Amino acid sequence: MRKTVGSSIGIYLSCGNCGADKVPIPDKAADDTPIVCPACDGQLATWGTAKSIVIEKATEEGLKAIKDKIKDTFSGDNRPQVD
Ligand SMILES: [Zn+2]
Repeated sequence: MRKTVGSSIGIYLSCGNCGADKVPIPDKAADDTPIVCPACDGQLATWGTAKSIVIEKATEEGLKAIKDKIKDTFSGDNRPQVD
């Protein structure tokens, strides 16, 4: 099985045409490389466009993880006291 960028970073795209998920990101994709759905052959976007979406999503998930961590740390007895 061919290794793809998506599988190596654990991110897949989903197809707006047919709804297929896990659309692989081509290996060695350049910014103008089209991302093509293997189910319907529809072109989703170029990797340049998809990359910015992936980064945005990764950032959102990263922020959520940080917020959850902060919430855990500052809940209960660990809550900081403000005088
Ligand atoms: Zn599709």
